[in-house]
Amino acid sequence: MLELPEVEVLRKDLEKEVVGKRVKDVTVQTPSVVRPFHRNRPEFVKALEGRKIEAARRRGSTIFLDLDENLTWIIDIGDQGSLHRETATEDLAEDTHLAVSFTIGGAIHLSEAAEEPTIHTGVVPTEEALEAAGIPVDALDLLDDNPTWMEFGRFLAAADKPLKLLLTDPTYIVGIGPVYSDEFLWEAGLRHDHPSSTLSTQEVRRLYRATQEIIVAAMKAADSGLDESEADNVIDEDGEVAVHLRVFGRDGLPCPRCRRLIKRTRIKKGIYTYHCEQCMI
Ligand SMILES: [Zn+2]
Repeated sequence: MLELPEVEVLRKDLEKEVVGKRVKDVTVQTPSVVRPFHRNRPEFVKALEGRKIEAARRRGSTIFLDLDENLTWIIDIGDQGSLHRETATEDLAEDTHLAVSFTIGGAIHLSEAAEEPTIHTGVVPTEEALEAAGIPVDALDLLDDNPTWMEFGRFLAAADKPLKLLLTDPTYIVGIGPVYSDEFLWEAGLRHDHPSSTLSTQEVRRLYRATQEIIVAAMKAADSGLDESEADNVIDEDGEVAVHLRVFGRDGLPCPRCRRLIKRTRIKKGIYTYHCEQCMI
């Protein structure tokens, strides 16, 4: 799953690549990707064809491309999806669910190698876009909202949840998943089950600084994948974990801070944490 830093890099690339272009043809290969926004493929195609892309925004890990006529094209890349640039005449690969070409040439393809794609896309009125995408208006986007450490501290205290669960809960914080939640906690030296309401001022400041520094570092390391159909910023084809990650995917390897071996622990169904038992308290 792409998390906030990678999606922000993708947003920036889309800003350069597609803003100002007008949509020519829209081909939907998999009808389910336009739900729940549209009843069927023709409804989505009609809404998007001929529209001009005016801005590229992001909230959490969802991309919002603002169109003329006060419409917004929502792109949720899903668990394993990717968005990449193609020529307008490129045939659709088997795992490509949507292709959109532009009047001045070129196209983008939305792909995901999954039997049931988790990609969702649709065109809605701009003022309804956030709600239509299922993003709570008061959920925190750590980059977009740019909170101060004191605001972040009040947010943690009010949420009162174990840190790992809080960081990955999109009703509280958007765009952070299994990867960067573990990275934030390792950098801050805090355990995954530490209740967010019991952090000292020092701990709040450490966690806050970790979120800021890691998001910036991850954006520097990220490749949006727009030029490749299968870029993975986290674990490559050979199973190598990206160098900018310190704990995620590194179970059995020494902790970069204290050399004790990193562990992978199941927190609850489907949620795991990579952590160091010695330097995360
Ligand atoms: Zn350690």
